[in-house]
Amino acid sequence: MAVEISVWGARGSIPYGTVDTSLFGSNTSCVSVKTAHQTIIFDAGTGIVGLGEALRQAHVKNIDIVISHPHLDHLIGLPFFSPLYEADVTIHLWSARRNALSDTKSMISEFIREPYFPIGIDQWAAKVSFHTFEDGQELGLAAGMSSGMTMSTCRLNHPGGCTGYRFECEDGVFCYLPDFERDDGSFDAATIEFLNGCDLALVDATYTPEDYEEHRGYGHNHWRAAGELCAKADVKAWKLFHHAHLRTDAELLAIERLAQSEFPNCAASREGDIYHLGCS
Ligand SMILES: [Zn+2]
Ligand SMILES: [Zn+2]
Repeated sequence: MAVEISVWGARGSIPYGTVDTSLFGSNTSCVSVKTAHQTIIFDAGTGIVGLGEALRQAHVKNIDIVISHPHLDHLIGLPFFSPLYEADVTIHLWSARRNALSDTKSMISEFIREPYFPIGIDQWAAKVSFHTFEDGQELGLAAGMSSGMTMSTCRLNHPGGCTGYRFECEDGVFCYLPDFERDDGSFDAATIEFLNGCDLALVDATYTPEDYEEHRGYGHNHWRAAGELCAKADVKAWKLFHHAHLRTDAELLAIERLAQSEFPNCAASREGDIYHLGCS
């Protein structure tokens, strides 16, 4: 079975939907990777709400969720992820340690609690395990990586840090790099090495080269920076990801055309996109 990669949310910062954003969608970061034996979810932005319903209908009972970093747009959907409220579901939640005191459980329990949300994590019915790793570590996901599959991690240049993920299997490599900014230095070298030769990458392309100038240091790329890094890393195909929240469909279509004129192997991620890696 080919590995199926589905985009449930491609927007950055905050979900802001209007009739002018329906083509690319307004839900924030969430991507699922489905293999013959596993479901891995990258980030819990608002896109995870629809994914939860789809998993429930498909009777999926074992789920790994890897979080890139605790910024709200990557976590805000989690309280509405319906498999958390099903007793026969097992969920493993993963994130990198961000400082000496933080672990995955405290990061999530500090956020999903009164007075911000009425249902705390102790009221989840699913069997939930929390895992904390150091950026750079390789993960053995709890649902069990089949032979030939690996999940590597890398620290990205973003305020407070962000984890990039690289999922490899026999016939393909997928990289997820939602929030980061080119630094023309050591971070770029590490990021290029991390992306090296992958088949498909979702890459932070929040800004245009023009509007980047007033957002320098915010921790996000413009699309040309993303494309140049992917070119240096010999990425086969890449998608502009983490679209600025106010960007309309018309603006994103124009950005996509422009980006494709320089990088024919790119496209802008749309909510609902499904890509395949040829893994068995
Ligand atoms: Zn973000
Ligand atoms: Zn962020």
